[in-house]
Formats: sequence, C-alpha cells, structure tokens
Amino acid sequence: MACRQLELVTEVTNIDPGIAQRLKVPKRSMVVAVPIRMDSGQTQVFIGYRVQHSLTSGPSKGGLRYAPNVDLGEVAALAMWMSWKCGLMNLPYGGAKGGIACDPALLSMGEKERLTRRFTEEVLSIIGPRVDVMAPDLGTDEQTMAWIYDTYSMKVGYACPEIVTGKPVELGGCVGRREATGRGVVFCIREALDELGIIPENATAVVQGFGNVGSVACEELHRLGVKVVAIGDRYGAIRNPRGIDIPALIQYVNSPGNVLHTVQGFPEAEEMDPAELLTTPCTVLVPAAVERVITEANAARLRCRILAEGANGPTTPEADAILAHSDIFVIPDILCNAGGVTVSYFEWVQDLQQFMWGEEQVIAQLKKLMRSAFQRVRLEAKRRNISNRLAALSLGVMKVANEKARRGLFP
Ligand code: GLU
Repeated sequence: MACRQLELVTEVTNIDPGIAQRLKVPKRSMVVAVPIRMDSGQTQVFIGYRVQHSLTSGPSKGGLRYAPNVDLGEVAALAMWMSWKCGLMNLPYGGAKGGIACDPALLSMGEKERLTRRFTEEVLSIIGPRVDVMAPDLGTDEQTMAWIYDTYSMKVGYACPEIVTGKPVELGGCVGRREATGRGVVFCIREALDELGIIPENATAVVQGFGNVGSVACEELHRLGVKVVAIGDRYGAIRNPRGIDIPALIQYVNSPGNVLHTVQGFPEAEEMDPAELLTTPCTVLVPAAVERVITEANAARLRCRILAEGANGPTTPEADAILAHSDIFVIPDILCNAGGVTVSYFEWVQDLQQFMWGEEQVIAQLKKLMRSAFQRVRLEAKRRNISNRLAALSLGVMKVANEKARRGLFP
C-alpha cells in the first residue's frame, strides 16, 4: 500500500527516478529475537522490529507498537508513512517504526517491562537522540517509554530523556503529548467543517477505536458540540442517536470493574453490530484504530461527509479510488494524525534544551502547525486538481526528495 502510494506520487511529480528508487526501500531494518522470562518461569521468545525508512532530514522518528500481527512489512510501511508525515509537517526528522509481535492484553506488567527493556537492549546500536527516537503507538504508552528511557540512560550512564518522546511528564515528557494526536484530528475536522460550511452543533460523528487517539478525539468533538453517535473498539460497538455522553463513557471505560477497558456494556447506549459501524450515516467518520479498515468491500457504502483518518493507513488504495468518485472530504492520515509526532517534536526540543513549555504554548503551537499543514494540503489539492491524499503525500515526499537531491549521493 505504501509503495503503491509512492508510485502514484512519482506519477504526478517530477521526482528524479534515482531518488524515487532510494525512497522506496527503508534505509535500514533490524529484526531481533526478544527472549524474556514469563511470570510462569518459562522462557518465551518474541520477535521485534525497528525499521528506519529515512535519516535524511534528521534522526528517524516513529512509534513502537505491540500487537499480535506486527511483521516486517507492516512496520516498513508505517516507517515510510512517518517520513512523509514528518516531511509534510516540516519536522526535522526521517521516518521510522518499530514493533513487537505480541498481545499486550495477555502480558503482565512485569512481562511487558522485561520485553520492553530487552528490546531496547537489542536495538541499542541503532537508536539515539540524534539517530532514532521512539514514541508510543498501538499497544504501548508512556510507561513503555519510561522503561526505554531508563534502560537507555542506564547504558549511557546519564539521564537522557531525549531518547524517547511520549514519556510521563515527570520524566521530561511534554504536557499535552498524550492528547496531541486526538486534538490534532479535531483541529483538522474543524478546518474541514469550516470549509464545507457545516456548524459543529449540526454535525454527528462515528469513531472507530477508543484508545489514545479515539477517546481524545471523542472528548474534543464533544467539547466542540459535535454529537458522537457511535463508537467501536476491538471488543464491540455501541450507538446512541441522541449522542453518547463522552465524559460518562470515559469514566465507564476506566472504571476498575471494566478489566478490558471496553466501551461494550455502557448503560447509556445500545450495542450495535461492529460490522455496521463504518457505514453508519454521520457527518464525520473517524477511523482511529488499525490500518486497512476501509476497503473496496465497504468504501462505496460509507455515509459520511468527512473522513478523518486518525489511524495510520485505514484506507486501501482500491477504496481510495472509490472515494475519489464520491463527495467525501478525506483528511488523509499523514495530515490528520500528525498532531502526535508534532508534539513529540516539541518534547524532544524541550528535552534537548532543558527548557519546558506550558500546556497553553503546546496547544497553541500544535494548532498553528496543524492549521498551516491543512491549508498547504488544500492549496496543493486545488492548485493541481488532485485528491487531498495525493496532495499531502506529494508535499511530504517532495520535502524528503528535495533534501536528498540537495545532499547528493555519497560516495
Ligand atoms: N506513533 C505515532 C504516529 O504514528 C507518533 C509517532 C511519534 O510521536 O514519534 O504518528
């Protein structure tokens, strides 16, 4: 999917064929065995990956995901998307991604800690604050980052908070980093609603995923006056045509009795068939979970006006071709969910300078950068009469391609 998108970009831009070739393959990839002692006393070996797609613009940057289906191809595609995302946002980073094939829901806290620390040890030779900086992604969180930070710092012999972003605030993390991706998604939605002349109070939303991105997007939509009418997670889906009470749902999901932290069983909504979630009529559809959920099988049945891609890669190229013939306003992933890596950049800068910002400054800067990226994408799309996705990808790819051309090929 990522390679196909890159081909589409090369068709509409004047990118040098040699540089296009170089952009198609990751700069380097590492596959490691991660053996740990399970709580049962038995040894289990997991497989971990770190792919650095590009180091042209600065250290490579990207999340680390823990999920059962993680493999080298998925991580490589996600790393490539991070390059275009950082390029589009004008951040001084290349793209990277990592992952461990495991089901974090089945691991104890101790097992997760040993897994994370051993993985860090295994990839130590290719990470560093000026080389490759990890961040949370699917199945990982600020605690995971705290372990990476500690393991790395123990190795180098001094506290090195700039080795990861998305850390706990008390360890040099940035206020507002946890909320950044969801917030950025809603900044984009606001811009799109504005452009289409839709008042938030008249809009409805459907959100797939209630993790770090989906839950914050729901909160921000709710605050904006948009009615969230259906929400799904990996266990099921719920709906309430009158609007789901988001603060109550968040309390329900985090209540101690709700061990799976699922939206399922929320008393103030009814259960619905998860297969119908994405085709539920609404103004804004927010896929905020995993990739490849909007495919040729369901794309023609979407009933939204705006598709805001909180997840990475939720729409396949085949589905994109179908959406091109609809009036759906697509906010492509590398723009829509770029709030996360943008505030990661703020965090890294603060750690390097040992000078911390306040939350107001973080939110204001995030808003400024998201808005200007949104406008750049819209301008490019209108100017060249291409889709928002192709416009965003072209801007991201060309930024990296131009830097590569300027730096030249060594030796
Ligand atoms: N994992 C997030 C993403 O895909 C954040 C990456 C980062 O902050 O480095 O954009």
